[in-house]
Amino acid sequence: MIKTKNAKQLVACQQCDALYDTPILKQGQSAKCTRCGSILAERKVDSIERSFYWSLAGIMLSAPAILLPLMGVTLVGQYHHASLLDCILALIDRGFFMIATLVFLFTLAVPVVRLLGAFYITYSFKFNRLKPSLLHFFRAFHYLDNWAMLNVFMLGIVVSMYKLLDDTELSINMGLLAFILWLICSTMASSTLDQDYIWQELENEFVD
Ligand SMILES: [Zn+2]
Repeated sequence: MIKTKNAKQLVACQQCDALYDTPILKQGQSAKCTRCGSILAERKVDSIERSFYWSLAGIMLSAPAILLPLMGVTLVGQYHHASLLDCILALIDRGFFMIATLVFLFTLAVPVVRLLGAFYITYSFKFNRLKPSLLHFFRAFHYLDNWAMLNVFMLGIVVSMYKLLDDTELSINMGLLAFILWLICSTMASSTLDQDYIWQELENEFVD
């Protein structure tokens, strides 16, 4: 598509492909497709503020979620506990390098990078520090979003692997609570982020 300055922006309905001029919405408003009734666009309320604080809370929870013991294990009468990091190290120790790498990437690296990304973007908007590089940054962040919920799946694998490895009694620990809260923060940080709004603002600012 060739875009000229002042060209009318069009938006297509995701369900039925009907084309409309991009609606101008206020916070909390949404536009529906007149043909099929599905939501065409919506402006979330206080998106930047909410996403900023959710990502801030998520960043603060990262350390306890990764380092506090997720589960306790009773093995031959002795009690051990293991954090997410311990689990990854145990997997490496037993030679499960592939699984250790996947678990590291998707339960640890991706969520941390996503939270930092959401924080950086909302921080830039909140304190008016917009830079042209944000366009590229936000595009990369958008791709990372596709991998969002894989960490839940990965945690399941970690727990079952750990249980299989040692065939032991499991109990739930503080770390798991921190991990679940961390997950909630990371999900909320990206679901409160109004991507359309951010694209629009960045485009108005840096694309002519
Ligand atoms: Zn439609």
